[in-house]
Amino acid sequence: MKELTHFVNGQQVKGTSGRFADVYNPALGEVQARVPLASKAELDAAVAAAAAAQPAWGATNPQRRARVMMEFVRLLNRDMDKLAEALSSEHGKTIPDAKGDVQRGLEVIEFCIGAPHLLKGEFTDSAGPGIDMYSMRQPLGVVAGITPFNFPAMIPMWKMGPALAAGNAFILKPSERDPSVPLMLAELLKEAGLPDGILQVVNGDKEAVDAILDNPTIQAIGFVGSTPIAEYIYGRGCSNGKRVQCFGGAKNHMIIMPDADMDQAADALVGAGYGAAGERCMAISVAVPVGDETADRLIEKLVPRIEKLKVGPYTAGNDVDYGPLVTAQAKERVLGLINSGVEQGAELVVDGRNFNLQGYESGYFIGPSLFDKVTPDMEIYKQEIFGPVLSTVRAKTYEEALGYAMDHEYGNGTAIFTRDGDTARDFAARVNVGMVGINVPIPVPLAYHTFGGWKKSGFGDLNQHGPDAFRFYTRTKTVTSRWPSGLKEGGEFHFKQMD
Ligand code: NAD
Repeated sequence: MKELTHFVNGQQVKGTSGRFADVYNPALGEVQARVPLASKAELDAAVAAAAAAQPAWGATNPQRRARVMMEFVRLLNRDMDKLAEALSSEHGKTIPDAKGDVQRGLEVIEFCIGAPHLLKGEFTDSAGPGIDMYSMRQPLGVVAGITPFNFPAMIPMWKMGPALAAGNAFILKPSERDPSVPLMLAELLKEAGLPDGILQVVNGDKEAVDAILDNPTIQAIGFVGSTPIAEYIYGRGCSNGKRVQCFGGAKNHMIIMPDADMDQAADALVGAGYGAAGERCMAISVAVPVGDETADRLIEKLVPRIEKLKVGPYTAGNDVDYGPLVTAQAKERVLGLINSGVEQGAELVVDGRNFNLQGYESGYFIGPSLFDKVTPDMEIYKQEIFGPVLSTVRAKTYEEALGYAMDHEYGNGTAIFTRDGDTARDFAARVNVGMVGINVPIPVPLAYHTFGGWKKSGFGDLNQHGPDAFRFYTRTKTVTSRWPSGLKEGGEFHFKQMD
């Protein structure tokens, strides 16, 4: 059995706690490796080493740090196939989807190449007589990221890229479900020229997370995962005096107006609802057609598309639309929620519960399910299902549809499909959700914008990636300076160069 490691001080380091978690191949339902779960002592030692290494990295000029990022991008492209294969084998998503996972992280690293520009401060010449005022953005020191299983390449890169480019040392605690890709990313960053100790990957569970929350050296924590854990980390991290941003779960609504292009809406819903087996925080899990006629037309278009979906292992290449769920427990939970939907009176139009794939009977596959006539009191509406299940809630009017998105406790993403610009504009202005798509089902902002949900989908006041990430992982120092008049003689005649 393959035994994974931590990555500390530029080396693979075996776990010493004696505790391990199994890492599965979800398509086969078999354990393929075990990952060490760090003790508090292991975490604290990694942090102490990072603290010793950070001052030199923080003092390295930003252009040189950016060059490490530039080389990292090259290496990510070089190893794209290898990374995608490792990612799919532990997560279960298809190879094209795994490449997308790496790619959307890589794009944030590309953005981080602009660190010299992003870290430029502000300057006021002659704020008073002989007085200049300037501000600079300085790294915080040692910072941390705690990341979920569903994007094991992208989200670690969203966190580590800006933190490292800004001059911090970074402690990554990735998901224990799919830890191989984060370890590979650390190896690549070392190859790209990152000094040892500046990125420490410490694998673990609650014990390692609690050690991060309580370690006095760690200045900031970026978390992505489910809402109950996000709330816990936000509360405990903030009360320990740290800067904390936490991104949580979601229930993303897509409103379909009567004037929408119904083929376009149905295609969008199938991709956004079932892609990656619904294990995306930006998945559309609720369709809200406006008017019964719209709902009937939409369901009529959806059913044949859903029935055609191909579910299978990533090894089947492009012949598969989505793969298994990540664990047996995740599968049981989703099946339980589908059962509860039936019991609470929703109409199960497409039933994915009895899905079987020859040769993969032990894999964690579920066929796609579609519910109609879902109401807000049902568990399948209230909870984030995080599986290949799409719920339809019928609304009579646009205002009622908008109300569903507004009243739900989550506020990560939402979309509207319409041909009417005025309705789309009204929706974008009024909806209390962080990311909005107009005829775009999964409105994930690109690297140079920022990503973040509202309500119970986001805690803290800055978003992920884009300029906000550089604000989160730096602090501002403002200097007011006055120089007495001095001698103005002597001079330098050669053109100064930065070394
Ligand atoms: P999770 O909350 O179970 O785990 C996230 C991280 O927290 C992992 O590193 C895990 O080891 C750690 N953790 C788990 N239980 C803990 C505990 N009791 N105490 C301390 N730490 C603990 O989430 P997941 O299942 O890995 O990921 C799926 C969730 O993440 C979904 O809810 C999804 O919507 C959300 N997500 C949100 C975003 C976003 O940007 N809003 C992006 C991706 C995923």
